[in-house]
Amino acid sequence: MERWQNKVAVVTGASSGIGSAVAKDLVNSGLLVIGLARRVQRIEELKNQLPDDKNSQLVALKCDVSNLESVNETFDKIISKFGGIDVLINNAGCLKGGQLVTMDVNEMQQILQTNVMGVIYCTQKAFKSMKERKVDGHVVLVNSIAGHKVLACSEVPEFNIYPPSKFAITAITELLRQEFRGLGTKIKVTSISPGTVDTEILPDFIRKYANGCFLQAEDISSGIMYALSTPPHVQIHEMIIKPVGEM
Ligand code: NDP
Repeated sequence: MERWQNKVAVVTGASSGIGSAVAKDLVNSGLLVIGLARRVQRIEELKNQLPDDKNSQLVALKCDVSNLESVNETFDKIISKFGGIDVLINNAGCLKGGQLVTMDVNEMQQILQTNVMGVIYCTQKAFKSMKERKVDGHVVLVNSIAGHKVLACSEVPEFNIYPPSKFAITAITELLRQEFRGLGTKIKVTSISPGTVDTEILPDFIRKYANGCFLQAEDISSGIMYALSTPPHVQIHEMIIKPVGEM
């Protein structure tokens, strides 16, 4: 992680689960980390778990990634205060049980706004900062197994719009790779697709399906640290991490 020493990383959804684990690992690897979430107090609490000499390296900012105004305001603040963004971890996401044919469309709209538009809003802001400063940055997208196949978790699937939102991330990752290359940058892009991770996002129907096979948030963070630590000519484009025993 030598090349990222003292560089600025933004982690969305740093208030719990995978985002918290990534924020911690990045701070411990020598980066200045800006953790974003709506429950900003949770990120403040995370600072207390860091060694005394490291906890000033985690900055908590409130941001709702599903809201363009909130993202623009937050990223402008980050850029003016810390000079720019070198690494973006698009991790914030949400999932709610329900069937596509019956679920309240406003709830599904919120999932799409967060999981898809939120990623686009944050990536546009980070890309602009990387390009203006001619930085060979890295954009990571926390995808899902659900971004590659629609899982048959139960008799009537309860995933609704979540798999389409993550399939969009698979396509966005490839689009970004082509655009970054076509625009003459060396910015890397990585999609990481976890199987079942034991975090707050999991509704009961997935917990049952997992049948006791869970990854921990730290397992996904290790994968992200690996992708970030590769030499400049190596790009980990897609990574799938499943717990042993998962279907
Ligand atoms: P958590 O519920 O622990 O974390 C979700 C994070 O997203 C929270 O920090 C939450 O913060 C944040 N978030 C949600 N909505 C918004 C929003 N509108 N604006 C800002 N932040 C938001 O779950 P995970 O750690 O598991 O989830 C992280 C990512 O991993 C998600 O993208 C998820 O889809 C993906 N994933 C998870 C899997 C699993 O089995 N756990 C499997 C595959 C993928 P706050 O509520 O404070 O705003």
